[in-house]
Amino acid sequence: MPVPWIPAKTILSSWKPQPRWFGTEYNMNLYRGCSHGCIYCDSRSECYGVDDFDLIRPKERALEILEDELGRRRRKGVAAMGSMSDPYNPLEASLELTRGALELINRARFGAAVATKSSLVARDADILEEISRHSPVLVKVTVTTVDPALAAKIEPRAPSPAERLEAVRELRSRGIFTGILLMPVLPWITDSDEGVRSLVRAASGVNASFIYGAFGVTLRDRQREWYYSSLDRDFPGLSDRYRTLFGESYGCARRDRAAALERVFRRECGDRNILWRMEDIITAYRSPYRGPEQMELF
Ligand code: SF4
Repeated sequence: MPVPWIPAKTILSSWKPQPRWFGTEYNMNLYRGCSHGCIYCDSRSECYGVDDFDLIRPKERALEILEDELGRRRRKGVAAMGSMSDPYNPLEASLELTRGALELINRARFGAAVATKSSLVARDADILEEISRHSPVLVKVTVTTVDPALAAKIEPRAPSPAERLEAVRELRSRGIFTGILLMPVLPWITDSDEGVRSLVRAASGVNASFIYGAFGVTLRDRQREWYYSSLDRDFPGLSDRYRTLFGESYGCARRDRAAALERVFRRECGDRNILWRMEDIITAYRSPYRGPEQMELF
């Protein structure tokens, strides 16, 4: 099948620095859609208007547009990728748009934040390392379970948890600030104490810089329909329990379970000296760049 390129007018958007979400200043998506097939994917929601979500569409002239936009921004900052699609999707292996964007970010002396579920991110360790010589770099690898059979059900076309953890190990061995997003945590599926303990231990085993957890899942319109149809296929009977307990609620978590789980999570992270608070994570990845010159930039 030919690559389904789509036109783009802009790539880089600025947003207010997000103190509750890693403190980044800019956001970008070089691709539209994502093929990992996660059953809980929020980006399928109606409000984002992405039809045919599983089809990855790279944006035409993305690097040319980005280069121009980076050059025209008066304020340097950290540019984030991975909010609406995975920047390390299967097409990236050959198209190298994400790699090209990181090279431009490096040349423009911006910082970079990448969120992914793919081990392909380790391919770009060299360029991430170069950026980190002058600006903050943050890599977030999502791992919601270390159980490969369970991951194959809930994130069917993403690389296995072991491959993702190996990528974390590799990036950390190059000194790149890399941690784990433990989110969402799915009621009755991944919200067990043992599941969370194993994940924190595995993160510690690969020297993760942090783990950021959110102990529930958000569901709305198209996303909810997709999620429930996946539950009916792989977890028979579970969608009825969701309907009974959560109805049309946006935030879905078994409250007592989520609170208990968060306590287990914090204790496990504390025992292993892994950062888990958002403010500590932001300080840790940005503060080395707060010299007199960088204070002005960041
Ligand atoms: S990796 Fe992210 S964007 Fe892609 S399907 Fe999974 S949740 Fe959605």
